[in-house]
Amino acid sequence: MPVQPSSDPNNPNTSALNKTEKCRFCDRSFTTKNGLGLHIKRAHPVEFNAAISVERKNVTWSPEEIRMMASKEAEGLRNGVRYINVMLVEAFPERTLDAIKGMRRSQKYKSVLSSLMTTEVQPTSPSAPSPSPLGVLVDGSGVGSF
Ligand SMILES: [Zn+2]
Repeated sequence: MPVQPSSDPNNPNTSALNKTEKCRFCDRSFTTKNGLGLHIKRAHPVEFNAAISVERKNVTWSPEEIRMMASKEAEGLRNGVRYINVMLVEAFPERTLDAIKGMRRSQKYKSVLSSLMTTEVQPTSPSAPSPSPLGVLVDGSGVGSF
């Protein structure tokens, strides 16, 4: 079966002109990374700084990630895992131990974890039908003299 994994028919540039560095903010291309870097700093300073701050922002935890880690810890706590930090570092290899420790100390994480622990430990009790206070309606049709 003739397979050519390196050639992409939708993008002929990838095989022949792989060496050009294309600016991600405009259409210009450069033969070297240095040339591209200089161009971006000079021509797109705002975008350049924004891109850097986006990369830095990536260090913070997304709510979803906090929830994932809290549910992992809740699972570990229920299973009697002794070294939660170790378990979490293994489960989230892209995070450092310090980052995980710091996150576990944060109030936000604690509240997510405690809500996970309470909701999942809660026994499934049959919901008793609660009597409605509005169930009793006064029928005043019979009121009247004579
Ligand atoms: Zn550019």
